[in-house]
Amino acid sequence: MRRLALVLVALLLAGPAAAGPKVIASVLPVQSIVAAVMGATGTPELLFSGRLSEHVAGLSPRQIEALASADLVFMVSHSLEFRLGEVDGGEAVGGKRFVELANAPGLRLLPVRQGGTWEADSDAPRPAASSGSNLILRSDPHAWLDPENAKAMALAVAAELAKADPANAAAYSANAAAFAASLAATSRDIAAELAPVRHKPFIVFHDAYQYFEARFGLQAAGSISDISAVTPSARRLKEIRDRLAATGAACVFREPQFSDKYVRTVIEGSAAKSGVLDGLGADLAPGPGAYGELLRNLAMSLRACLEG
Ligand SMILES: [Zn+2]
Repeated sequence: MRRLALVLVALLLAGPAAAGPKVIASVLPVQSIVAAVMGATGTPELLFSGRLSEHVAGLSPRQIEALASADLVFMVSHSLEFRLGEVDGGEAVGGKRFVELANAPGLRLLPVRQGGTWEADSDAPRPAASSGSNLILRSDPHAWLDPENAKAMALAVAAELAKADPANAAAYSANAAAFAASLAATSRDIAAELAPVRHKPFIVFHDAYQYFEARFGLQAAGSISDISAVTPSARRLKEIRDRLAATGAACVFREPQFSDKYVRTVIEGSAAKSGVLDGLGADLAPGPGAYGELLRNLAMSLRACLEG
């Protein structure tokens, strides 16, 4: 009886802390990394589905309410999910500061690529509603596509969670270490998968993949749209068609978040094939395994199209 009473007291004391913090993650790769670190302590809510472009996703009143009631909000960067950046620290979310994982200690940011077909598309039509995406970017925000950066993000997530929920600090730390170990194996598999096609040039829809290319030694020849995924101008489409002809790129990759009409225009009359690259995981179920699956899917798509 006395023992039961002690257990009850312990349960009462544990109380709400046992429920863990309410956590929101912006895009699927971030949700997956946070889910891996939270493990059995809880599940982060995904704010933006992968069918939306990371550069334009807006916020509904319901989403803003959810942000206001969350204990922690993880995002990549104000220069990526800029609609989320607009409410960061604002009244609508109760003054809450979101965690920008692009600032994680040890994360390596790459500068925005310049020159030729990596240049910003200055002729692109920009609707007033998306003017915020017309940011002058210095660093490329697609940093999650390097698994080494994902490890740095996981460690930063573990540190933030430990501050919000010290009772589970050891679990967060152990989960982040396990996630990093699993990524080492994933990276080895991907390097082997891509080895036969490493030197074959290809063209992407928007300039989102340099972290993945740099990590695995791939040869991208240009992008149809620019780093902010604006609708490409006629001048840009002409330039990329010329680039395709000059490099003999075997594949032009579309993305599920955007219409494929630009890819069709670019490859028309050429020998190039079209493939699909999805750096956001549009069709993946959220959760701890999604991030590794996203990377493996990129590798499989590249290999399948480039070796054909
Ligand atoms: Zn992007």
